Amino acid sequence: MNTVVTRFAPSPTGFMHVGGIRTALYSWLYARKHSGRFILRIEDTDKEREVAGAIPHIIESLTWLGIEWDEGIDRGGPHAPYLQSERLDLYRSYAHKLIAAGHAYPDPYTESEVEMFRQKAEEEKRPFLFRDHRPEISETWDGTKPLRFRAPRIIRYEWDDLARGRLGAGEEAVDDFILIKSDGYPTYNFAHIVDDIEMKVTHVMRGEEFISSTPKYLSLYEALGVTPPAFVTMPVILSPDGKKKLSKRDGAKDILEYRNEGYLPEAMMNFLALLGWNPGTEQEFFSKDELIQAFDLSRIQISGAGFDETKLLSVNQHWMRQLSVEDFITRGDFSVPDISKLKKAVPLLKERAHTFSEAREMLSGELSCLFSTPTLDQGQLIIKEPSERSGMTKSALESVLETIKSLSEGVSAESVKEIIMPIANAEEAKGKGGRGAILWPLRYALSGQERSPDPFTLISIFGPAESVSRVQKAIAILEG
Ligand code: GLU
Repeated sequence: MNTVVTRFAPSPTGFMHVGGIRTALYSWLYARKHSGRFILRIEDTDKEREVAGAIPHIIESLTWLGIEWDEGIDRGGPHAPYLQSERLDLYRSYAHKLIAAGHAYPDPYTESEVEMFRQKAEEEKRPFLFRDHRPEISETWDGTKPLRFRAPRIIRYEWDDLARGRLGAGEEAVDDFILIKSDGYPTYNFAHIVDDIEMKVTHVMRGEEFISSTPKYLSLYEALGVTPPAFVTMPVILSPDGKKKLSKRDGAKDILEYRNEGYLPEAMMNFLALLGWNPGTEQEFFSKDELIQAFDLSRIQISGAGFDETKLLSVNQHWMRQLSVEDFITRGDFSVPDISKLKKAVPLLKERAHTFSEAREMLSGELSCLFSTPTLDQGQLIIKEPSERSGMTKSALESVLETIKSLSEGVSAESVKEIIMPIANAEEAKGKGGRGAILWPLRYALSGQERSPDPFTLISIFGPAESVSRVQKAIAILEG
């Protein structure tokens, strides 16, 4: 069997969004699964739409996700160069082959004449295929006029799409389309076919907007005498409610924004793989290697795939939870004054945060008490103290203080709980106020916050010495 060769061929016209990167992912997974080759080619023949900085951005996005290419733009390969604007001679030589075989001719008209033909066809409600305007005798092509394809008359086109099955179109699907523009650049329709042939691409994966042009491509392959590659059409990505195509307003954003928001690339890869493909099992979480193993083309869905950001959050949380404490800290890019405390807080962060930016926000919000000594308010300390038991908060804190002193460094939150709860229960037995009247001031003394993790977790993170000093401060305030 021939080696599988797939490619990702973005145009440098803006940032990489989820749809583009998913196409790259599926092409890459398929190549890896079959020990094939994956190519990164840049299609920059539409100079007007080109956006500065787009190429490095594409490279950075793929690299972040862990999609590596075997040949391509920045690393060369047997079919270099991989930038279409540097391959103009090649397109010209294919153009001459087509002219020589009678499959292409220079368009003798001016742009405004062509526009008039188009308008007339529109008024007469017939497809504008250009055929009626083919000149009787072709001029020699000197490169200053557009070069057009002489489309064969085929009544019906049919082909197999590996994801969608048999597709077809009528003869109006193929016009005498432009191969090379008057500026010397090839059109996408021509250049990508020349490149896919030269680069020996076996499977072309792309969005459904290309289905309607596939008959053109088939005609061109035929004229060139080359067997076409297999076509695989990606499902469209829909807005979260599944009602329309995902737009910027529904969260279609630059893939690197997810990196900046603290998503893990392994989570993004897992999420994107399942956005339009399923393994046929209930498995939800896939590592890169598992995806390569499981991926196949027949399970790419036809219907649109809803972009569910909640799902992405839960996949990301899953992969964050798989990280060791050290990796969690390195990859989370935290800036805190005390790493040993941060290490102890990692389980808490894994439990609560879905992204690293959420984790960082927690450390400067609800978990800020971990790194800064709280300023306590006397009123808050005794807010749960029943009036008839005045002074109970202070004595309760004093009784817990002795217990905390006796704890060993590195004690777990569960052990702290086992030791402190009996004291709280005993307080409850004494009457009004109960457990809350001790657990509340204890937690508040430790955190200085109305909302914070429970006191047992805080004590285990702080260790006995710091916990004692925080509780002592609270007692001093109550004495004052
Ligand atoms: N340059 C095309 C685009 O960015 C690629 C389509 C294809 O993969 O053939 O839409």
